[in-house]
Amino acid sequence: MNSKEASLYVHIPFCTKKCPYCHFYVVPDKDPFKQQLLTALELEWRTLSPKLEGKNIVSIYFGGGTPSLMGSSGIEKILNWFPRIESQEITLEANPENISLKLMQEMRSIGINRVSIGIQTLDNLLLKRLGRGHTKDTALRAIETTFEAGIENISIDLMYELPGQTLAIWEETLQQLAPLPLSHLSLYNLTIEPHTTFYKQQKELTPHLPSPEECLKMLNTATSYLPKIGLERYEISAFAKKGKHSRHNTGYWTARPFLGLGPSAFSYWDKKRYRNVANLTTYAQALAEKRSPVDFEETLPYPDNLNELLAVELRLLRGVHLPTFETRHGSLPSSTLTALTDAAVKGWLTLSPSEVKLTKQGLLFYDSLAALII
Ligand code: SF4
Repeated sequence: MNSKEASLYVHIPFCTKKCPYCHFYVVPDKDPFKQQLLTALELEWRTLSPKLEGKNIVSIYFGGGTPSLMGSSGIEKILNWFPRIESQEITLEANPENISLKLMQEMRSIGINRVSIGIQTLDNLLLKRLGRGHTKDTALRAIETTFEAGIENISIDLMYELPGQTLAIWEETLQQLAPLPLSHLSLYNLTIEPHTTFYKQQKELTPHLPSPEECLKMLNTATSYLPKIGLERYEISAFAKKGKHSRHNTGYWTARPFLGLGPSAFSYWDKKRYRNVANLTTYAQALAEKRSPVDFEETLPYPDNLNELLAVELRLLRGVHLPTFETRHGSLPSSTLTALTDAAVKGWLTLSPSEVKLTKQGLLFYDSLAALII
């Protein structure tokens, strides 16, 4: 990675309703909130933009929430503030029920060249259980419509380990992907997070969750099926057609500096990680009063910082080139090299003086491996 590369993330927190498993910061989709957000984002951008002098913004990501609810005029206003370079990846997250040909054509005309659609599953009963606002048909149409609008770089999110999901239902969802114009897929297992409706319903939900054996079968089915339809696994939970790896997300895995704008947005800059307050009013008020909206920041000491960067980069199936890693971040301590050797003995890694890489086994035990390194 070139040291001039940087990325931008913009958090657009609006959703028409809150999904019962969602732990992101979201607010109802109301016009006054949108104006409040735009005003605050512009103030924040003015304070942040000097940091980007001399940097090339290689990717911009509108996440949420549901950024497509801002409409093309709202997204265009924000995009117009940012320096644009050739071959910049500009991603917009969208939900199937908000996608129309007109909206996607407008988004394309203002520069959106990648759309990430929250499909989650292609089973109507499970979609209902997840509180989603779309059906299987809406989802399939949304993908085709986005492609028809001329946005050919389309990513979808899919979830497994859902309450009531069987291996047969999962296979049916996967098989329906084959004819679709997809370039990328992110795979998530359901995690029941605190402060969500599912968390409150955990007692009732747990008996309906697939067993660990079934979950493993679901994961294995996906990892063997997706490459057959051209979606190669390149990161633990990401699959892509050739040349369509997410440039933005690859930045997260390789410690590319990024600035996050908007309530609850994270940033990683000057080796420091920080987050804006997760409240639109407090965020907007802070910026209006020329105060920082950051309410959390952390700079990990050596060698914890390096260990964390290494564990994150190891998520990439291509592995980590150790001399490059050490040139960029500093020398790894002998304790880390011992941890890597232990992991290699367990069969989780292949390790040479120049490269460390996950094995098939390591892909399954990544969390234990990360804990060993960190
Ligand atoms: S649409 Fe996405 S961001 Fe909005 S509530 Fe549902 S999961 Fe959360």
